[in-house]
Amino acid sequence: MKVLKFGGTSLGKPDRMHHVASLITNDDVPKLVVLSAIAGTTNALVNIDQALGAGEKEKAAELIDDLYAHYQGFIQNLYQHTDALEKANTVIKEHFDLIRSFPDQAYQPQFEKDILARGELLSTQLFTIYLKEKGISVRLLPALDFMSIDVHQEPDIEAIEHKLKALISANKGCGLFITQGYICLNHQGNIDNLKRGGSDYTASLIGAALKAEEVQIWTDIDGMHNNDPRIVEKTFPVSRLSFDEAAELSYFGAKILHPASIWPVQKYNIPVRLLNTMQPDAPGTFISKSTSEDEIKAIAAKDGIVAIKIKSSRMLLAYGFLRKVFEVFEKYRTPIDMITTSEVAVSLTIDDSTNLQEIHQELRAFGKVEIDRDQTIICIVGAKVSENRGVVRKVFDSIDRVPIRMISFGGSKNNISFLIDTKFKKAVLDRLNIGLFSIDLIE
Ligand code: ASP
Ligand code: MG
Repeated sequence: MKVLKFGGTSLGKPDRMHHVASLITNDDVPKLVVLSAIAGTTNALVNIDQALGAGEKEKAAELIDDLYAHYQGFIQNLYQHTDALEKANTVIKEHFDLIRSFPDQAYQPQFEKDILARGELLSTQLFTIYLKEKGISVRLLPALDFMSIDVHQEPDIEAIEHKLKALISANKGCGLFITQGYICLNHQGNIDNLKRGGSDYTASLIGAALKAEEVQIWTDIDGMHNNDPRIVEKTFPVSRLSFDEAAELSYFGAKILHPASIWPVQKYNIPVRLLNTMQPDAPGTFISKSTSEDEIKAIAAKDGIVAIKIKSSRMLLAYGFLRKVFEVFEKYRTPIDMITTSEVAVSLTIDDSTNLQEIHQELRAFGKVEIDRDQTIICIVGAKVSENRGVVRKVFDSIDRVPIRMISFGGSKNNISFLIDTKFKKAVLDRLNIGLFSIDLIE
């Protein structure tokens, strides 16, 4: 069994859905296909929920009407026969009737989850109707029947495996299954989700649960690139990555893959391919246990970082100081990304500044605290990059005089990271592209 996930842009227009249908039916390999919501839908649903939460009923009603009209237009070009169109109309009406019932009730936090789930429920139901219209044999497996998270919002692969295998064996002989990405049930049995971009995570969890032959993530780019293609010219797809390298790149900003989606496939050693729906023959990126020994694979950048420096002479020769500092972050459930220490100061970074004020207040008890916002972590990933002096020299030669706020080196042998002010980001990424990949920008 292969697990294939298609993102919102791959489904964003009726003819793209037609194209996805031909991609998943061009051989006899059994497949389970995970779909995101149609492009733009989840954002639109977020806006509807926010309007409802703010008590702006008229605005919510307008947004609901707009999205409804979008779906009505979409299905006109999706199907050929009126009976398929009628079925699709019924599906759309059901979901929108539910959304329209919310403004009449007092707002509850659960509405958000119920509203956001509509995107994936709609895309999978409309797509299944299309496949059936084409005479393709297919089963829609509701994600809410097998995908669940526990009290700590963690999925349990064994529970998913148990339920999903039962559903699949109840459909013996079927070689094509469709399901929703992103959505799940929580420990209270209510609709929930795996957080924004979570459809990749769904595909990875399913791949791990079924011990799939491979997981394919289909998007609109031909694999993970060596540098950020939205910022830097002349980037190229990386053909192979190890799970560790892919995890570091996706965590440190490579948008193509949800960072949480690596651990399940890594745990069960299921290879992953990143492929391009618009260019299905392009080789993309292959992620597996082993990798090529290329010195440097890729560069990623993560914005929105806050650097915090605590300077204290009390740290000198003291033990237990770092523990006290870390406890403050633990108390406010704020993960630390990078950390460097000297005998009298500790610098660290966070990307969630929700509780920054409270954290700042408590850290003051330990010494002088300096805070810098708008920082970017630049992360260079490759097999043993940090053990290779040539690479280290090239990195520092390339960035030349750009001031570096922090460096993390040796924490993992696959990664060198440093922190800069975000205003230098483009220059640094450009220079590293030239310096590390010998790319000539002046042709
Ligand atoms: N539709 C959800 C989102 O936009 C999940 C996903 O696309 O992966 O975040
Ligand atoms: Mg996505």
